[in-house]
Amino acid sequence: MMPVIDLRSDTVTKPTTAMRKAMAQAEVGDDVYGEDPTVNKLQDTAAALLGKKAALFVPSGTMANQLAIRAQTQPGQEVIVESKAHIVRYEQGAAGALAGVQLHWVAGERGLMGVEQVEAAIRPKDPHTIQTALICIENTHNSGGGTIYPLATIERIRAVASAHRIPMHLDGARLFNAVTATTLPPASYAQHFETVSLCLSKGLGAPAGSLLLSNDLALIDKARRFRRMYGGAMRQAGILAAAGLYALEHHVGRLKMDHDNAKRLARRLQQIPAVTINPQHVETNIVIFDVVDHRLSPAAIVAVLKEEGVLLNAIGATSFRAVTHLDVSTGAIDQAADIIARVLN
Ligand SMILES: *Cc1c(COP(=O)(O)O)cnc(C)c1O
Repeated sequence: MMPVIDLRSDTVTKPTTAMRKAMAQAEVGDDVYGEDPTVNKLQDTAAALLGKKAALFVPSGTMANQLAIRAQTQPGQEVIVESKAHIVRYEQGAAGALAGVQLHWVAGERGLMGVEQVEAAIRPKDPHTIQTALICIENTHNSGGGTIYPLATIERIRAVASAHRIPMHLDGARLFNAVTATTLPPASYAQHFETVSLCLSKGLGAPAGSLLLSNDLALIDKARRFRRMYGGAMRQAGILAAAGLYALEHHVGRLKMDHDNAKRLARRLQQIPAVTINPQHVETNIVIFDVVDHRLSPAAIVAVLKEEGVLLNAIGATSFRAVTHLDVSTGAIDQAADIIARVLN
């Protein structure tokens, strides 16, 4: 059988043999009673890594984001968020449907909002106007192309938020990609946010699971009640938490390889005449490129590549996304680049 090089997402990674072994050997208990030692260990480990007091293990990044929104807003309030954010595009309108808040979109540059834009989006505290309850920042920014917020920008947004007494949430689904690329400690980002969400099931390679972190223990308690309401309270979840712990211990260091592979792919794509790409825009493990005026439609290009053994996503009228991860080697990246060049030329 032809090998398939799956570049659709870093969520397609499968647990390694060693990770499965850690899962099989995990000590477990009923986490709704707070008695799963592996879940507790994962929560404590992640909290310490990010410099937060507490963490809550949840099934998905979507749930972590939605608990953060629900626990820090009232229905009828507004949340500032970048226009292509995961919270806007890929969470089925949960902020409106479940928390009853309105999203105030700010169009960023490759997903990154500037401090002036955020400040301008904060509503005045007058009796007519909807009130801003929360500011959400996505780092790295998925639809922006795995872009990294400069820490200085976050510091400036934080200062504005504090002046207006508005809390901040970090959608850190790929925070460890940002941390790896910048070599900043995770806490240097996390310290600026009341809540942080973190995905274990993206480039870190766990089969499922995310965390919500905060210094505010009452907020984590509130989020735990909403987790129950949203159907996310699990029982012997230590089986999954063991995978998350394994990922934090063994898969953070290797993210740099994914970034190197993404840059390698970008440089190869740049040599294909039909492709438009700026390799300097590839900051982490996400490669976005354009194919303009091709005889094949984006859907047809995706279909032909699939027949040739390369999976990637069309994400717009001319745009494509390829994501590197722990199940694609450098050799596979070169093979994928060869196939893409052959199909497009
Ligand atoms: C993947 C992702 C999430 C969470 O996704 P789930 O599939 O619900 O785990 C949240 N934010 C961003 C930026 C993501 O890429």
